[in-house]
Amino acid sequence: MISPDAVVVRWAPSPTGRIHLGNARPALLNWFYARRHGGTYVLRMDDTDHARSTRESADGIEVDLAWLGITPDLLVRQSERTALYDAAVKTLIAAGRLYPCYETEEELDRKRARARLLNKPPIYDRAALSLSDEDRARFEAEGRKPHWRFKLDGRPVQFNDIIKGPQTVNTASMSDPVLVRGDGSYLYTLPSVVDDIDLAITHVIRGEDHVSNTGTQIEIFEALGGTVPAFGHHNLLTDAEGQGFSKRLGSQSVSDFRDEGYEPIAIAIMASLTGTSLPIETYETLDEIANRLDFSMISHGSARFDPIELDNLNARLVHTLPYEGAVGRLSSLGLEGEAMWLLLRENLRKFNDIQDWAKLVTGPVEPIIVDEDRDFLALAKALLPSEPWDENTWSQWTDALKTSTGRKGKALFLPLRMALTGRHDGPELKSLLVLVGRTACLDRLP
Ligand code: GLU
Repeated sequence: MISPDAVVVRWAPSPTGRIHLGNARPALLNWFYARRHGGTYVLRMDDTDHARSTRESADGIEVDLAWLGITPDLLVRQSERTALYDAAVKTLIAAGRLYPCYETEEELDRKRARARLLNKPPIYDRAALSLSDEDRARFEAEGRKPHWRFKLDGRPVQFNDIIKGPQTVNTASMSDPVLVRGDGSYLYTLPSVVDDIDLAITHVIRGEDHVSNTGTQIEIFEALGGTVPAFGHHNLLTDAEGQGFSKRLGSQSVSDFRDEGYEPIAIAIMASLTGTSLPIETYETLDEIANRLDFSMISHGSARFDPIELDNLNARLVHTLPYEGAVGRLSSLGLEGEAMWLLLRENLRKFNDIQDWAKLVTGPVEPIIVDEDRDFLALAKALLPSEPWDENTWSQWTDALKTSTGRKGKALFLPLRMALTGRHDGPELKSLLVLVGRTACLDRLP
């Protein structure tokens, strides 16, 4: 059971596609808040839009959330909670706060155009409030189905945003919002409030594009006699060009990043800490971020995602990944060995790069041998120490080569590197030599 004063948050995606980085931001910020306060995390699928919501998208969201490291305490689907919304509609009608309207889209368009001509804001004129019973009966007889609007108080609604500080939304400058469509389906506004009341949500943490909704929704909370939760509106993540992420573009979804081999924590760090004063650096767990991220650190300015920063962060995470963290993933690639991992990890940009780099140890390697080094490498082969080998073998070998050829520095080391690894750069040869072993080294020398 949820104790009455415990923190309860919810993340409420609309399952109309896979989630992108911009959606991951509130998912994570809510998670951090719950973890920091020992609270409960509700995953709420906002699937009242039957035309666009799919179960497949909802299932995908669950997968993406789990991949990021978030495990909700409770999952609810708005499509299964219609009875609660129907009951709220009755309450609001009885309180005189929900009224039927019969205007068609075209009529509303004409009203808005007229308002614009008169230089007035295009606010709904509440004409439906003055309809008589006969008027309504006539519309119904014509086959018109009413949509229902919430009658706003029209006042400055104030709240203390836990991210942005004191806010005022003046509902006098808004149209009475439609809560129920002509076909009886619900828009997002009412179900969200009903669920927040029913699930005893204490903190609503969401993007700042919802600030004006909050003004409306606080009035609905009050009209339903519910406890108004605290609100926190975070800055929105934009792509590198400053554009909002869009699900419909289908690009840069969380699952795309997963398929491209990024670490989940790298995606979580970028999605949550971009546009905050907590530095983007390597954190091992979401809890570590939760403990360090105070909401006062969330910038009031923009949060622009930098893909290069993601690549660099991902590389740093892989470079510092201990063997215990890598061993399971290595074995699923058919690889093993702590020494191999510790030697090669700092060459990787993504974890799976290890498949290529491991070939330096396991082979096959395509040696690079230039003609002018052929004699030098033949001598190197002859001077290769006998086993057993250890970390000193490399210097014994190269010291002997130095003495007999006079080569030093790059002229000494680069031909050996190119022959043994088939590359111009890479891991320390002293350790690599031991892992490769004498037989394979002999094979790579001419
Ligand atoms: N489904 C809404 C959205 O994705 C939820 C907003 C909210 O958190 O209340 O924008």
